[in-house]
Amino acid sequence: MFERRITRSVDVGGVQVGAGSPITVQSMTTTKTADVDATLEQIYSLATAGAEIVRCTCNDFDAAEGLARIVPRSPVPLVADIHFQYRLALAALDAGVACLRLNPGNIRKAEHIKTVATEARDRAVPIRIGVNAGSLDPQIEEKYGISAVALVESAKRELGYFEQVGFDNVKISVKASDVKLMVDSYRLLSDSVDFPLHLGVTEAGPPPGGLVKATAGIATLLNEGIGDTIRYSLTADPIEEARAGRQLLESLGLRERSGLDLIACPSCGRAEVDVISVAAAAQEALGDRELPIQVAVMGCVVNGPGEAKGADLGIAAGKKRGHLFVRGEVVKVVPEDEMVDALVEWAEKIVEEGVDGALKSADKSAAAEAEADRAELLELQGEDANKSEALVELIRKR
Ligand code: SF4
Repeated sequence: MFERRITRSVDVGGVQVGAGSPITVQSMTTTKTADVDATLEQIYSLATAGAEIVRCTCNDFDAAEGLARIVPRSPVPLVADIHFQYRLALAALDAGVACLRLNPGNIRKAEHIKTVATEARDRAVPIRIGVNAGSLDPQIEEKYGISAVALVESAKRELGYFEQVGFDNVKISVKASDVKLMVDSYRLLSDSVDFPLHLGVTEAGPPPGGLVKATAGIATLLNEGIGDTIRYSLTADPIEEARAGRQLLESLGLRERSGLDLIACPSCGRAEVDVISVAAAAQEALGDRELPIQVAVMGCVVNGPGEAKGADLGIAAGKKRGHLFVRGEVVKVVPEDEMVDALVEWAEKIVEEGVDGALKSADKSAAAEAEADRAELLELQGEDANKSEALVELIRKR
């Protein structure tokens, strides 16, 4: 585990952010907030995919009215995203949102900011100061350019207004679409304040580039102990954002695994099956089930079960058959076209009975059958199916 920076705690509608609480996943709806049913449907899907806090735009009074209808039915706390009009922040507070996000770059009048902070203070509703490199206050941009110092100065100026009305129920983000600028800004901010930080690379774009950029920025900071809540900003279905956020936290060991972790070998000269299509079929068959286990799809029985022996469950291909293994131990041999169905069946068995329980159901002859297939393939392919050693020899001769 990485040592996390100590921050204050902020309560977002019952979800704690900061002060060592589990790092949370956020996302944002893409529906019109005034469309209550569509927005609620998306919020439920986001919550199922792992989002623990969801933001909705509050861009007009119809949206604020929508929020008033959505908030009581939402399964997760809602944050109202406010730009330009401070009155919409007040309307969102009336709607009962759990948090506001204010952009200091486009709500700039001190009196307006203080009015919102006072209302939020009186209702014990936190505010995220959401600085964005693309919409900095022109004065700050003129003075500091688009830089880490500018982003942090913008947040500090907002904090100063909040302080004047005794409001400090705050989280902060300093997002940029440039990963290096984003990382530098959060590092600087983290050195200057102890408010919880909401991490994100803004406008990261569509996957896979957007996923790479967002992961590069967010993971770098999390590895330094910086960050209390995260959001992937992808040009994609927001469900992808929630899934990516959850997966990142799980892969860094910052959250318990809640869903499937599918791993697959990259395939090579030994592969006895099209690993990509089997992995895709397995992902489709298992992906939507809440199975908190690691499942491996391996291209060959020669190395597959050994290479993936840490996985709870796996399948390796060989001689038109699939060898199912649990923690590296072969439990069943099935025809190739039944590999995915067998994976689903055994994944459910492991979830229900645990690894030890599932191992008790192992087919007694499976290990011997598997060993025979393995030996036959080794005989056919030799030890060096990828012809690596021949290439090494060639290199050595140069
Ligand atoms: S040796 Fe087998 S398991 Fe390993 S990458 Fe090649 S096909 Fe996959």
